[in-house]
Amino acid sequence: MKILLNNIDLNEALFDNSNIGFVPTMGSLHDGHISLIKKSLRLSSKTIVSIFVNPKQFNNKEDYKKYPRNIKKDLKILKKLKVDFVYLPKIKDIYKAKNKIEIKLNKQDKIMCAKYRRGHFEGVIEVMTRLTKIINPTKIFMGEKDFQQLLLVKRFVEKNFKSKIISCKTIRDKNKIALSSRNTLLNKNDLRKAGAIARDLIVFKKKLSKNMNLKNLFLMKKKELKKKYNIKIDYLELRNTKNLQLTNKIKNAKIFVGYYISRVRLIDNF
Ligand code: AMP
Repeated sequence: MKILLNNIDLNEALFDNSNIGFVPTMGSLHDGHISLIKKSLRLSSKTIVSIFVNPKQFNNKEDYKKYPRNIKKDLKILKKLKVDFVYLPKIKDIYKAKNKIEIKLNKQDKIMCAKYRRGHFEGVIEVMTRLTKIINPTKIFMGEKDFQQLLLVKRFVEKNFKSKIISCKTIRDKNKIALSSRNTLLNKNDLRKAGAIARDLIVFKKKLSKNMNLKNLFLMKKKELKKKYNIKIDYLELRNTKNLQLTNKIKNAKIFVGYYISRVRLIDNF
């Protein structure tokens, strides 16, 4: 495993490689990331994993500061997986390119996390554009856990580059919590709550049927969850999985939720 600390190292390592699989991460790796990496190792000749906590996608400085970082443990995990390259860029490696990249979301994209985290996806799309330009991968592996991110990045990146986005299933623990680096910020009781909320919504989704007044049902469910778990909910919505529009049809739809437990923001979809 080669560790690439800057763009000179990176260019040297990648210049005569093709069929490169790229797994972008912000580190604090868990089994969710590992599933993406294993898929890349299966489907690519060489796999490169980046670890970069991207300041531009944090709409809150405090959140950026307290984002979990665990580079030593991450490198151990990556070495064991036999990843070919780990890219650990500094801020200047990503943002020194003089060309300005201005990302604008459409009005219909300003929903869910785009509505509640102003500037977040613009930051994500910018960093993914810069990383794709620098690495020029054949495939980029991303998780359905961040479904809105996955669709937006796919649209922007595939429009501008040859790289293909490969979507990967959400990995959950035995209590059904979607694995997330942010889970390390939760205490035992909050983790138990997050698991109960996930199981609650999995059962809720199974019970949905055509003839129900879904709008009303979702409003009631939101109220119920808030009260039962003492959480702040940004959104709880049923949306079409192709275009992320609100829908009353259960077919090709997912429940999307964004909420806070003890000031830690979690998102999931079912
Ligand atoms: P992050 O380090 O949180 O920016 O995530 C890096 C990549 O891992 C993104 O494409 C995420 O969607 C994906 N990912 C994060 N958690 C999970 C999970 N539980 N299951 C599958 N993919 C995940």
